[in-house]
Amino acid sequence: MASPEQVKQYLAYWFQLGKPLIFDQGESVLPQPVVEGDHYSPKFEACWQRILASGGSNCYLDGTIQTIGELLSEKWEMAGCARCGMPVPMLSLGVQSGPCPCFDLPTWPNLDLPLPRLPVDSRSHLEQIRARLSRQQ
Ligand SMILES: [Zn+2]
Repeated sequence: MASPEQVKQYLAYWFQLGKPLIFDQGESVLPQPVVEGDHYSPKFEACWQRILASGGSNCYLDGTIQTIGELLSEKWEMAGCARCGMPVPMLSLGVQSGPCPCFDLPTWPNLDLPLPRLPVDSRSHLEQIRARLSRQQ
């Protein structure tokens, strides 16, 4: 089962590649920026709160068929796309339901561009630096 945190990260990643969230009435929402320093932006958090308030059943990520509400149910898990490594929904039975949202992004994956990221966890970042320094000694 995909945890709410995983679904939130899924949206954060795809928003950074320009994939909007589509609501029932055809309204498309793409909060930018997604990340500010070490936390999600207020716009992104507001969008996430709006999704949670409705249970997510009235919106889906552009290019996918599952509503966010379905992703929050027990039927779905998050897996890595075989082509680009981005998070994609997978049925808990281990079946990928459809194409990754990357299918219509001809320039993706592109390793020359900064990759989508999550808010920096400064503590683990510091630990990585510390580990690198101790390897050098
Ligand atoms: Zn992909």
